[in-house]
Order: sequence, then structure tokens, then C-alpha cells
Amino acid sequence: MPASRRPLINLLGFEIRFDLTWLILVALIVWTLGAGYFPAAQADLSTATYVWMAVFGAFGLFASIILHELAHSVVGRKLGMHIKGIRLFVFGGAAELTEEPPSPRVEALMVIVGPAMSIALAILCYAAAAILLGLNVPQPVVTVLGYLAAANLILALFNLIPAFPLDGGRLLRAGLWAWRGDLIWATRVASLVGGAFGLLLIILGILSAFYGNLVSGMWWFLIGLFIRAAAGSSYRQVLAQRILQAVPVRRLMRPDPISVSPDISVQHLTEEFLLGRSLKEVPVVLNQHLIGTVGIADVKAVPPAERLERRVADILQPIGGSAIAIDARADEALGQMQQNGRGRLFILEDERLVGVLSLRDLLQHLSITSELQVSAQSDRGSPFRGSAGASAE
Ligand SMILES: [Zn+2]
Repeated sequence: MPASRRPLINLLGFEIRFDLTWLILVALIVWTLGAGYFPAAQADLSTATYVWMAVFGAFGLFASIILHELAHSVVGRKLGMHIKGIRLFVFGGAAELTEEPPSPRVEALMVIVGPAMSIALAILCYAAAAILLGLNVPQPVVTVLGYLAAANLILALFNLIPAFPLDGGRLLRAGLWAWRGDLIWATRVASLVGGAFGLLLIILGILSAFYGNLVSGMWWFLIGLFIRAAAGSSYRQVLAQRILQAVPVRRLMRPDPISVSPDISVQHLTEEFLLGRSLKEVPVVLNQHLIGTVGIADVKAVPPAERLERRVADILQPIGGSAIAIDARADEALGQMQQNGRGRLFILEDERLVGVLSLRDLLQHLSITSELQVSAQSDRGSPFRGSAGASAE
């Protein structure tokens, strides 16, 4: 959902973005702290004081979550990983990786610093509260610091649960990966544990709601669903990357795609190619060289009365992210498609157009390869089954 992600701030070169769902979490935390937690921790304060405590408590909690993710991101970047930024959403935060770590050691180092940061923050807040308590500072300040100490400790402990893709699950995966040297197997096992833990949370959530704790029960239920979904999709992502890494674009592309000359009229393009051959986008080629692309949106920008006069050369779009070299690997092609929101790429050999690769072809290859690999181990079949048609253009 790129449209719902708003950039918040830029810290140490990492863009911190939030989903609109994050605002639900902010509201819920402020309300829980102001109406429940702080009045219970310290009675007989004014409403205004509780509101301020809740606002500072929530602010401190989000700063803590960002510092946790920032620790992952900074160490990851030091170890050579590419990190897009930090995303805040309804269940907290996540450092957004665009690739898997190159080794178990890198993964373990990068993961452990997050909970380590949370534990350090917990100690810091606890020490500050203890010192300020002796200095006659107003009691609400001490109470808020005490809350932040507890919140950071819980953050560290929850993240250390060995359920992939939580930090603990990532450590489990790194350990299994180091043991057997097989990333896919390690991810599969860690994801299964993650999925089982998610199911446990779902059941506990239902029980808790049934026994009268509706809000927290619903919360556990939703977090359980989220962890189950994340465990499954993280596994598929690793599998996809590994399978596609081994395949050159050359092997999956379809050769000799239909192309047009820049000299033909927009009318001719529309009738013969877009309508005539059911194409949404056509590569424009001059002396075998790809010089751009032209599609439905470009044609629509030309008034119908002018389409006979205007040439394709007038409306073509620069190549940009629409082409990739024939030596590239299939996982790089998939990454480029995702980055540019494209369903197909044109394949170039020395700037000559030699083929076209569609998302559908990539997914088909993934589905077949993983089905052949996985069915040798169990009857569960391909984790990509059913997704091949749905997400292709
Ligand atoms: Zn973490």
C-alpha cells in the first residue's frame, strides 16, 4: 500500500514512514495510558495531568520502537545490507529489508542489537526514574519513566520469542542456517514455529475475549493473525529469491517481441497494435535499438482528431525502468518489476531489443520449481500455487 505510507522524518539517512493503520495504534496507546494505566498506577491526579502523562508515555514508547528499529538498520547498513527505511504500522515497527542477509552471522548481529537496544533503554529509564525519585521531581515524571522502563523490557522480551519473523525467530533461523548451511530449510522451520506461535496467540485471544477481556483478547487475536501471515509470506519471499537467483533472464524471456517504429501514426499504433494485438504497451524500436515505449496512457493524451497526424516518436516514453539487460538474473528482474510497479520488462542485448519477460512467466517458473522441490519433502505442494495468475497483469 504505497499510497498510505507517509514519510515522517529522516533519521541517520533512514526514512521513517507510517501506514495510516499506525494512527489506530497511537490513539489506542494514548487512550489506554490516560484512561487506564496511569490512573491505576497513581491515583488522585487531575485529568489534564493524566492526558499529559499519556501523551509523553506514548511519545516515549514510539521513540523506543524507532530506536529499536534504528539499531537494526544502522548495524545492518554497517554490515553491507540495503535497508529501505523504517515502517511504523498498527503492530509496531519494522526495518524494511530489500534482500536477505548474506550469512547467518550478519543476520544474528543485525537482529540482536534491536532487543539489546530495548534492554539498554529499559535500564536507562529505570535508572533515571530511581535517581529522579530521590531528587524531589514531581511524581508523574517518575511514573512515566517507570512505564517506559517496563514497556522497553516487554518490547525486548516479546521480540525475542522464537517465532519468525520476530527477532527471536530470526535468531532461530540464523542458528539453524549456521548449523545446516541451508537458508531455505532454516526459514521453513522458523516460519513453521512462527505460524504455530501465531495460532497460539489467536486461540489465547479468543479465550481471553470469551472470558471477558474483549479488547486485549481482540488484540492478541489480530497480532496472532499478523504473525501467521508474516511467517508465511517471509518464507515465500526467501524461496522466491533463492529460486530466481539461479535463473538468468535469458532463460525465461520470450524472444522477438512485437515492436513498432517511431514513424508510424498514433492512429496506426492504436488500431494495429493496442487494439489489434491486445497490447497495453509496445516497445519502440529504431534500427533494432530500443528507444522508448508507448502505451494506452500515452495514446489517450492525444485527442482522437490528431491521432492520424501525430507520430509515435512524439509521444514515446523514455526507457527508464522498463528494460533490463539479458545478463541479469531473474530475481533482479522481479525486484525491478516490484520497484517500478510493472508487469513486464523488455530485454536488451547491447541496447538491441531481444525479448520480453512478464511477471506471469516469472511466477509460473517459481510455482513449477517450488512444487517440484517441495513435493519431494511433503504433500503441502507449492507455496506459490494460486498466486501465479492472481498477481500477474
Ligand atoms: Zn527487532
